[in-house]
Amino acid sequence: MAACKQVSAPDFPPDFPPDPHLFGRLLELNHHARLAVCVFMSELVNGARIAALIDQIARERKRCPNCEGQIFYRHGFANGLQRYRCRSCGVTFNGLTGTPLARLRLKDRWLAFCDCLRDPACTVHSAAAKVGVHPNTSFRWRHRFLCWTKLDRPRTLGGVAEADETFLLESQKGSRQLTRKPRRHGGVARKRGISDELVNIVVARDRGGQTFDFLAGRGALTAEALHTHLLPKLERDIILMSDANAAYSAFARQAQLRHETVNLSQGPRVRDAVHIQNVNAYHSRFKNWLHHFNGVATKYLENYLGWRWAIDLRRIDTAEGFLRAALGVFNSKR
Ligand SMILES: [Zn+2]
Repeated sequence: MAACKQVSAPDFPPDFPPDPHLFGRLLELNHHARLAVCVFMSELVNGARIAALIDQIARERKRCPNCEGQIFYRHGFANGLQRYRCRSCGVTFNGLTGTPLARLRLKDRWLAFCDCLRDPACTVHSAAAKVGVHPNTSFRWRHRFLCWTKLDRPRTLGGVAEADETFLLESQKGSRQLTRKPRRHGGVARKRGISDELVNIVVARDRGGQTFDFLAGRGALTAEALHTHLLPKLERDIILMSDANAAYSAFARQAQLRHETVNLSQGPRVRDAVHIQNVNAYHSRFKNWLHHFNGVATKYLENYLGWRWAIDLRRIDTAEGFLRAALGVFNSKR
């Protein structure tokens, strides 16, 4: 027979409950009232849990958000959070000060919201329904939570790295003032081929799976964009693999990087280890996933790229992990 797990009672203080009839009265409540008490208690527990987590993150960050000072001490509580005072500048702060989540309400629901963000199929409306907020709040929270999460990237790529670009039609979804004529719903580009109607997204991925991406402007890729965005992320002895786009060859030559070209039009797709299949698979996962959202505004595209990286292959696999990234405490080791 399996042994029963021992569940010990919590340590109540000697004067608990303050009202000796408290539990008896709870039992007298009808079903709806008991449910309301349960919801209330659950929000209290979630509020305490998230306050403790935010405080832990503040202590791990080890710096004052105002002056970067590293010596600070406890200075009471405000808005349910531990407050600190910096010894250098005297400013008081908590774990949310200076972050994109500062002044967001309903903290007791944040972890449930982070759980929704971990789900690749999460939509604004499904998250709103699960967490119990308005869809407008769900949308606003999504981009507040992704604002710093998208910065959680590997410091460098090493060994062998593939790079390739993919394109999305520029979108001003949600804008009140369009800078061009509106397209029909589900629009297509007016110009053929690669034009300035298309936003250029470059993804570079090393064979260890570390991934970095950036928006390279509109239209065709330039060596200048690679110098600006990609070069600072590459270790000097890297072997860069790309297709025959001249921008990569010019960039690699100028930056004195070893470069291998996959010529898709002239030969087999894979020549031993010279291929860009990993990065192309990443493109596919990103674009297939974007279909859930019925088009995303270009101004939010970097947030979606960062979100994809966060959930790709379950890199962030807990709600707490997502909250930590949203508050600038990252997983990246390299
Ligand atoms: Zn300070």
